[in-house]
Amino acid sequence: MVSEGKIPSGGTVFLPGATLGILGSGQLGRMMAMAAKNLGYQVVVYAASPDDPACSSADLSIIAPFHDQQALARFATAVDVATVEFENIPVEALEFLERRVLVRPSSSVVRICQDRVLEKEFLHRQGIPVVSFRGVSSAAELETGMADLGVSAILKTTALGYDGKGQIRISPGDDLEASWARLASPHAVLEQSISFVSEASVICARSPSGEIACFPIQENIHCNGILDVTIAPASLDPVVANKAEKIAVSITKKLGVVGLMTVEFFVLADGSLIVNELAPRPHNSGHHTLETVMTSQFAQHIRAICGLPLGTVEMRSPGVMLNLLGDLWREGEPDWELLLREPNLFLHLYGKSGAKAGRKMGHFTLLGAGDPLRKRALHLRTAIVDHSISEAVLTQILH
Ligand code: ADP
Ligand code: MG
Repeated sequence: MVSEGKIPSGGTVFLPGATLGILGSGQLGRMMAMAAKNLGYQVVVYAASPDDPACSSADLSIIAPFHDQQALARFATAVDVATVEFENIPVEALEFLERRVLVRPSSSVVRICQDRVLEKEFLHRQGIPVVSFRGVSSAAELETGMADLGVSAILKTTALGYDGKGQIRISPGDDLEASWARLASPHAVLEQSISFVSEASVICARSPSGEIACFPIQENIHCNGILDVTIAPASLDPVVANKAEKIAVSITKKLGVVGLMTVEFFVLADGSLIVNELAPRPHNSGHHTLETVMTSQFAQHIRAICGLPLGTVEMRSPGVMLNLLGDLWREGEPDWELLLREPNLFLHLYGKSGAKAGRKMGHFTLLGAGDPLRKRALHLRTAIVDHSISEAVLTQILH
């Protein structure tokens, strides 16, 4: 954990009672809005649909696409400071808003973080290790890129990818014309597929005055490219954890982020670290902070963008967070009572109506540490849809 600097002295401060604008209206926007409401802010959400998760937590929702300048202008007039729930907001929309209202993080930060090639080039220039990569804009460039890398690789769309979407694994000898056609994107990054021992992330907050606070590093386990489980804190060698924190702080400072910056890492067998990607916002891997840390990532983001003192990032308890994807709804509504009966388990449902496979519908955090506790969390998630796992079996696992 890093805590630097003094109580904010520079930059514009927005005290409780001011109006916060959130661009984007999914679960991240919803939990951000809830944290802002807790602190006494008014919240305006810019949403694609009134049914989106963040709208029910906002004082006002503006329903419009990001290219609608009239709606953007209304949003700018309605809010004191604006932020983003995710990085896939068109930069033109952010620049339009910046001419009218303060946007934190700035469009220059979002521009880099929404483009995998710009992001990797930035990291490489800073001397921060990233996987070998090539920018690719045609099947011919994919051919050359594969020949250069000479190993199995992953082809990712430069923009708009999330939860493993817009990614194709490629092995030497594959039909590259077909792979390029299948990606269906004008620009992509081809990166070496690496073997890592684990994945981890650090969420770093920076206020306008330069105060910085990093949440403890967490370990992330993905399934089909989607985050499945987060273990907090990660059980990493403290030297490796410290190095990751230093990298996250240096990226946050170099980009001049105001708000949160999440840095995803691959941890290699020799303890070296490679940065996978950046997200200038609260992150799925930080959801556990709602219960495990004194200040949640959402509250911290609000504090940072409003120029308030950052909150303490001491852990209250270790914990394990499990995502609840739409797949769990295949046979109807899962058995929530089973989870709600569990002591030290905190359930969060995002209020989404359409449960689709791979769609993030909610998560839960079980406080505690160790293998038996993690096993129990996994069994509980299975048991809410599969009643053949008896309560007796579940009880045996931990108690
Ligand atoms: P997203 O924006 O969808 O999170 P990521 O680039 O983080 O995209 O990829 C999702 C997951 O796919 C990663 O967390 C990791 O498990 C796996 N992955 C991505 N890139 C690589 C790579 N170069 N080598 C090995 N695994 C990778
Ligand atoms: Mg990722």
